[in-house]
Amino acid sequence: MKNGLLLTIILVGGIAFGQVNESLITDVTVLSHDSLEGREIGTRGELVAAHYIASRFETIGLKPFQNDSYFQEFSKKTKAHPHDTEFTGKQLSGRNVIGSIDNGSKYSIVIGAHYDHLGWGDENSLSDEHAVHNGADDNASGVAALLQLAENLFSKKLKHNIIFIAFTGEEKGLLGSHFFANSQTSGLEAISFMINMDMVGRLDEDRRLAVSGIGTSPSFVPAMETITSPEFQFKLDSSGMGPSDHTSFYLNDVPVLHFFTGQHAQYHKPEDDVELINFEGLNDVATYIEKLIIRLDKKKDLKFEKTRDASAGKRSFKVTLGIIPDYLFDGQGLKIDGVKDGRPAANAELQKDDVILKMGDLDIHSMEDYMKALGHFNPKDEIDVLFERDGEVILTKVVFD
Ligand SMILES: [Zn+2]
Repeated sequence: MKNGLLLTIILVGGIAFGQVNESLITDVTVLSHDSLEGREIGTRGELVAAHYIASRFETIGLKPFQNDSYFQEFSKKTKAHPHDTEFTGKQLSGRNVIGSIDNGSKYSIVIGAHYDHLGWGDENSLSDEHAVHNGADDNASGVAALLQLAENLFSKKLKHNIIFIAFTGEEKGLLGSHFFANSQTSGLEAISFMINMDMVGRLDEDRRLAVSGIGTSPSFVPAMETITSPEFQFKLDSSGMGPSDHTSFYLNDVPVLHFFTGQHAQYHKPEDDVELINFEGLNDVATYIEKLIIRLDKKKDLKFEKTRDASAGKRSFKVTLGIIPDYLFDGQGLKIDGVKDGRPAANAELQKDDVILKMGDLDIHSMEDYMKALGHFNPKDEIDVLFERDGEVILTKVVFD
């Protein structure tokens, strides 16, 4: 939630960020405005956002997806539980917004960003407050970058067609991207690669940028190495599986890259607002991706490679701690970026910035160790957890739900 007039924010933004296109600021501001009520799939706010994105596509000159419409509508069941593999929950209707640049090619590049968010705080909210969750970083930032890429790539003579997709239903379990990827059975072989931007608006002082999926094609790293600016401190991950829409493409053998500027305290809370967006950083991320696309465009059909599945263990978890890990943490252990009230970690008085070193008998050196460790425990288990806080190593007891 935020206060203040839309216009004021745009004007202030325009003055404060001279290097940045006005439209980047406007797009984030409009999409994360209170009046869109958090853009939850199936709500009026989602529809308003979809129309806004479609009108931007039209102004840019993108070709509508089908029958003169930018909308790909669908109705889909959610997963009853987040880690389920089957969709057996409630029925939701929504629409992906799709536009393309037709360069007359046999091959296409997909650039995607989800535009839906948590409404007034759905089951994925990390706040107890009933309030509009604006999702400025998650993921108005990615959609704004998508629109900037559409604007800039429109006039370039590329070898590939470019398909721009604003996905819906990501927050409910990748619904929109799953629908697109699985309704395009014949078209998928013609997709050279897919780029996903999910939460790219909070580049920090250290300029840490996470890029995952680099192992899904041998062409990615060499192309990235030729780009010298903008500079980032990259956190690279080979896996094509992750908690966002690129996974839907990876599972259909499409090479993927996911860009992410990292977790923050406002993640999935009403405070994820436009005031906290680093627009220069967002612009730099979009500029980098644009350069990368132009380099990768020269290759006709990128080779796809399967990667180790970093999140494979997730589905079998019987327990969770109720924390948000710091995915960009480079040190030993698992750094906590946020804790959810009333869950095991919070009950054990673990806090943001604590670093978990040991769970039960298992040493935790990395995110992967943490994932593996979770797979070992059962509901109601009581375990010792060793963690570091301000240089001090502390032992606590955690009881799983
Ligand atoms: Zn997201």
